[in-house]
Formats: sequence, C-alpha cells, structure tokens
Amino acid sequence: MNQSQQTIEPWLRGIIRCPQCKGELVDATADTAGETASAADPAASTSVTELRCGTCHLAYPVEGGVPVLLVDLARRTDG
Ligand SMILES: [Zn+2]
Repeated sequence: MNQSQQTIEPWLRGIIRCPQCKGELVDATADTAGETASAADPAASTSVTELRCGTCHLAYPVEGGVPVLLVDLARRTDG
C-alpha cells in the first residue's frame, strides 16, 4: 500500500458536502509556501490536502485521505 498519497475514496468524495452550508466541496492542496514539493514528484501536486467550500469559503483538512468535516477545524480562505 502506498501511504504517501492522500486520496479520497470516489464514493465518499461524491456524497460529502460542506457541513455549514451544504455547498459542494472542491479538492485543493494547501498553500505551503517555503515547502515546495520536488518537481520530480508529480504525485505531490495532485494529492488532496484539504477540501474547500466555494460558498462559505471554509477549507476542511484531509487527514490520511479522510476529510475532517468539522467547522471548528476548518480554515477560512476568504481573506
Ligand atoms: Zn460551505
């Protein structure tokens, strides 16, 4: 098993919604300035590290491929 990638199960990805506004969540990678992935590792740019809600602009973390859909743990992305 390759544990280095964080991918979300397709069936799970299809049913989850923002717990706050029930909006659709989009895959996103966290902006980790100063810790850029190796250019020789394309998988690093495709692994999902958070799910962002386009409606209320909250970003939910993904821990080991499991989305943590808790408003308390979400990060605001609207500035
Ligand atoms: Zn939302």
